[in-house]
Amino acid sequence: MAEATESESRKLLSRLQATMAEGEAGQERLDRITHLIADSMGTEVCSIYLLRDSDTLELCATEGLAPEAVHVTRMRIGEGLVGRVARRARAINTANAPAERGFRYMPETGEERYSSFLGVPIQRLGERLGVLVVQSKDQREFSDDEVYALEVVAMVLAEMTELGAFVGEGEALSARHKHPVMFRGIVGQEGTAMGRVYLHEPRVVVTRPVSDDPEEETARLKTAIDKLRVSVDEMLSNVTAGGESVEVLEAYRMFANSRGWLRRMEEDIARGLSAEAAVEKEQSAARARMETVPDAYLRERLQDLDDLSNRLLRLLTGQGRDTGAEMPQDPILIARNIGPGELLDYGRSLRGVVLEEGSVGSHAAVVARALAIPLVIQASRITTEALNGDPILVDGDQGVVHLRPEDTVASAFRDKVAMQAEAQERYASIRHRQAETRDGQVVSLHMNAGLMADLPSLPSSGAEGVGLFRTELQFLTRSQVPRRGELAALYARVMDAAGGRRVVFRTLDIGSDKVLPYMKPFEEPNPALGWRAIRVGLDKPGVMRMQLQALIRAADGRPLTVMFPFIAQFEEFLQARDHLMREMDREDALGHALPSRLEVGAMLETPSLAFAPRQFFELADFISIGGNDLKQFFFAADRENERVRRRYDTLNVSFLTFLQQIVHRCDDCDTPLSFCGEDAGRPVEAVCFAAMGLNSLSMRPASIGPVKSLLMRTDLGEIRKVINAARAEGVQTVRPAVMEALRAQQG
Ligand code: PEP
Ligand code: MG
Repeated sequence: MAEATESESRKLLSRLQATMAEGEAGQERLDRITHLIADSMGTEVCSIYLLRDSDTLELCATEGLAPEAVHVTRMRIGEGLVGRVARRARAINTANAPAERGFRYMPETGEERYSSFLGVPIQRLGERLGVLVVQSKDQREFSDDEVYALEVVAMVLAEMTELGAFVGEGEALSARHKHPVMFRGIVGQEGTAMGRVYLHEPRVVVTRPVSDDPEEETARLKTAIDKLRVSVDEMLSNVTAGGESVEVLEAYRMFANSRGWLRRMEEDIARGLSAEAAVEKEQSAARARMETVPDAYLRERLQDLDDLSNRLLRLLTGQGRDTGAEMPQDPILIARNIGPGELLDYGRSLRGVVLEEGSVGSHAAVVARALAIPLVIQASRITTEALNGDPILVDGDQGVVHLRPEDTVASAFRDKVAMQAEAQERYASIRHRQAETRDGQVVSLHMNAGLMADLPSLPSSGAEGVGLFRTELQFLTRSQVPRRGELAALYARVMDAAGGRRVVFRTLDIGSDKVLPYMKPFEEPNPALGWRAIRVGLDKPGVMRMQLQALIRAADGRPLTVMFPFIAQFEEFLQARDHLMREMDREDALGHALPSRLEVGAMLETPSLAFAPRQFFELADFISIGGNDLKQFFFAADRENERVRRRYDTLNVSFLTFLQQIVHRCDDCDTPLSFCGEDAGRPVEAVCFAAMGLNSLSMRPASIGPVKSLLMRTDLGEIRKVINAARAEGVQTVRPAVMEALRAQQG
C-alpha cells in the first residue's frame, strides 16, 4: 500500500512539475493544478485558497466548486474549516464535514453536497500561505498516506508561490510579501531609520522542489550530509575560534548524525521531492513544533535543527550567504541574530538593524549602541517576512518596525523623523553652552564610548569628555586577545582624538553576557552574579596588566584616567590599584614616560560598595555609578529580562534614596562622583539625578542634546523640593510628581 502511494504521489508530483514547466499565466496554472490533484486523488473537488492579506484567505482556484466563487469567496483565518486549517497549521480530515465544529456553509460554492473534507496548510518554513483542500461526496476519511501525499503537494505549491509561479496579469494571486506588516519588538538602541531591507542571510529558494530520480536525490542528500558532519566536527575541534557555543555544536552533531532525520528526508525523496525540498519539509515541521513547544530547552534545540537545516540547504543549493545581493541605499540590516564582529564589518553603512532574537545586553546591541545605529530586537518572524529591498521603517524609540508600510504610516513616520531632526538642530545650537539650570547649577555632561569611531561625536555632541570608555569592545570583536602594541596604538589615537579632554578608560569588563570568543567556555549557574569584570582581572591578571601597560604607553606623558569595573569591596580596589602601581614602576624602569597625572577610580555597580569603609572613598580618585548593574542588583531584577526589568522604575523612591546616600558618602570625602549607566541619558532621570546632587553624568552622545536642553529649562531646586515632598508622602516613584513639575516649569 505504502509502495503504491509512494508511486502515486511521485506521479502526482511529476505531473505538477510538468505544469510548472509550462509558461502559463498564474490563473491557468492554478486551475490546471486543482484539476490534476482532483483527478489523481479521485475526489470531486480540489480547491486552493491563498492568503490575500495577513488575515484573509481567498478561493483562488477550484475544480468541482462553483467557478463563480473563485476570487469571491473569502474567509478570515480561523473561520470555517478552511480557516481553521490555516490557523492551526495542521490538517483537518473528516468524513462528515457539515457535522464538524466550525463548518461554515458557503452557498456560492455549493459545497454542502460534499461530505468528506481534507484540508492541509500551504506553508513555507512556518509561514502561512494558504490552504489546499480536497472534498468528495462519499462519506470517508482519507488515509494517512493520502494526507501525506496532499501535504507533500501543498509543500510544492508553497515553493511555487515563493517562486512567483502564481502571479497573474500584473497582480499577485497570492499577496505574500506584499502587504504591510508591523513588528513589535524590544528597544535595543533608540533612534529612527527609514530605508530598505538588506538580509544578512538571504533565504535559500528551492527552485526545484520535485524530482523523478530518487536515487540521485538520495545520493545528493548523503553527500551534503557528509560535508555537513565534517564541517560540524571541524567547528567543534576549533571551538575557541568560532562563534557558536559548545552546547549548540554538540546539538548540531547530534542532529547531523540522527538516523530519524535522515530517514524521514529519504522517505520524502522516495515520494518525489528533491533533496532540498525534503530538507525544507523537515525544517518546516521543526518550525511548526517550535511555535508550540513550551519548554525553552527543547525550543532551543529545535532552533539548532533549524540552523543546521539552513546549512544543509546552503550546501545543496550553493545559495545563501554571499549571494552578491547589492546593498540598497539606506540599508536596514535584518538578521535572526548577528555577532558583534559581523555587525562591525557592516559598520556605519547601515541605517538600522532589526533582529529576530538578540537581547538588550547582547554584544550586537553593545556594538549597535556604539555605532549609534537604531536597533530593534526580538522582532519575531521578520526574517521570514522581509525580502531584500522591501521598504522598512525602524522606530528604535518604541521598538516597532513597519515593513512595507502604508503611505499614511510612512508619512507619519517622516513627520516624526523631521521633528527629531529639528530637535537635533536646536541641540546643535546649544552645543557650546554649559548645562546650566535655571537656578544656576551646572551639570557636567560626558559621553560613553567604546570604539574609535565614536570619537568624532565628542565635539559634535557637546560632551565635555568621555566619561566611560568601554574597552571590552576591542576584545569582543577579535578572534584572539589583541596585542599590547595594538591596544596602545588604539588608546593613543583615542586620546589624540579627544584633544586633551578627559577620557575615563574602564579596564576590561567581561563575563556575564560578554563572553570572549577565544576564552574557554565556562559554565556558570548565574553569570550576572558570576566570574566577571574585576573578578576575572584579579584572578587572572595577565590580560589586565597588559592592558594597563598599553594605557600607560598610550598616555606617553599625558594625563591618564583608569577606572576598574564592578568593584564590590574595598580590597578589590586596593588590589587592582596595586597592579596599576606596579605597572607604573615597571614602565618607569623600562624607560617609558609616565602619565603626567594619574587618576584611579572605581565603578560602583554593586550595593555593597556604597557601604565600604571610609578609606575606600578617600583613596578612590573618583567613583562612577554603573546604574545598569547597580539597579539590577538593587532590585534583584535581571537587566536582560524585560519582564522584571520594567517592573522597577529608576525613579523609585528607595533607589533615589540609595543614590543620595552614595552622594553624601562621596561629598564627605570630597570624592568626585558621576553616573554612567543608560539612565543618565534619559532627560527626566537625568534631571532627578542632578537634583539628588549627581552633577556629572555620562551618556550616549545622542542623549547629550536632549538632556542638556531639559536641564537648561529646569529649576533644579524646585525639582528637589518636589522629590522630597513626594518621598515624604510615601509614593513608590517620584515620576508623576516630577513630570508634572517639569511640565509646569516649561510653561
Ligand atoms: C553599568 O553597569 O551601568 C555600566 C555602565 O556598565 P555596563 O553597562 O557596560 O555593564
Ligand atoms: Mg556594568
